[in-house]
Amino acid sequence: MKTYRKELYFETSRRRELINITAQVAAALTESGIREGLLLCNAMHITSSIFINDDESGLHRDIETWLESLAPEKPHSRYHHNGYEDNADAHLKRTIMGREVVVAVTGGKLDFGTWEQIFYGEFDGKRRKKVLIKIVGE
Ligand code: ZN
Repeated sequence: MKTYRKELYFETSRRRELINITAQVAAALTESGIREGLLLCNAMHITSSIFINDDESGLHRDIETWLESLAPEKPHSRYHHNGYEDNADAHLKRTIMGREVVVAVTGGKLDFGTWEQIFYGEFDGKRRKKVLIKIVGE
């Protein structure tokens, strides 16, 4: 069995952003040389997410609106967590959107459903943050 590990870095200019990272994840898989196995991709911060969905701008606006209705950023004073920090909403958004995805690797490719794409969801950006890719297989 082979293993492969890689870190990706993201620094968004806005507090919240969704970034399609499918090409970077696929490039890591190619670099690993693994043909059959499993690929894990996870955010290494508790205010950002990795998730799979459609790369469609209307849906992305819907996700933003939905997350803001569930855990609005402001007023900051509405959250117990906010004192030294102002990112309670980002922790909650990350919890809803998830920490990681696992994708089957078949024939050296990401074995996706038709419209599946991998996204990095940033909820407390404007600083450098890390994403882990770990691939196991042969
Ligand atoms: Zn915090």
